[in-house]
Amino acid sequence: MAAPICPTCGTAARLTDGREIYPHRPDLADKPIWACTVCEDTYVGCHPGTEEPLGFPADAALREARILLHHRRIDPLWKDAPRTGGYGRLDAEGIKTVQRAARVRVYGFLAARMGLTRETCHTAMFTLEQCREAWTALKGVSYGEIRDWAKFGEGRKPTGRKRRAPASGEGVAA
Ligand SMILES: [Zn+2]
Repeated sequence: MAAPICPTCGTAARLTDGREIYPHRPDLADKPIWACTVCEDTYVGCHPGTEEPLGFPADAALREARILLHHRRIDPLWKDAPRTGGYGRLDAEGIKTVQRAARVRVYGFLAARMGLTRETCHTAMFTLEQCREAWTALKGVSYGEIRDWAKFGEGRKPTGRKRRAPASGEGVAA
């Protein structure tokens, strides 16, 4: 496992765990965390069940920016999706299904707006600059717009899912 490099000082991070980083959170004690050996309070968590870093070590300002981006911009869009109409009456399972699909669309939309692939469009990998870019990209956007974009949108990047394939010989329409 290659140690992630701290973007602030260029040093390879060291692997530690929640006992050191979150001393007041016994529930996180065993979580592997990569921490910068030079910069104070600069770390990154791992993909669940692995020691693979979720991006690069972030300082408090960057972590705060990522959290804000989630709470104020990204999460409300997909969480409120079932209330945006067109779904009829939904039970708890139906609400979850709509939210899951909405979440995929929100990230797809954000990736397209930011010129990223879906694989690199994760807030844990965002720089402060990208957090600002995402914040602006989602400003004033409703889930209805994202749903329309997903259905009829232009400039979508292929997601691996089959959409109306152009007949052979036909150019790919812009
Ligand atoms: Zn550092």
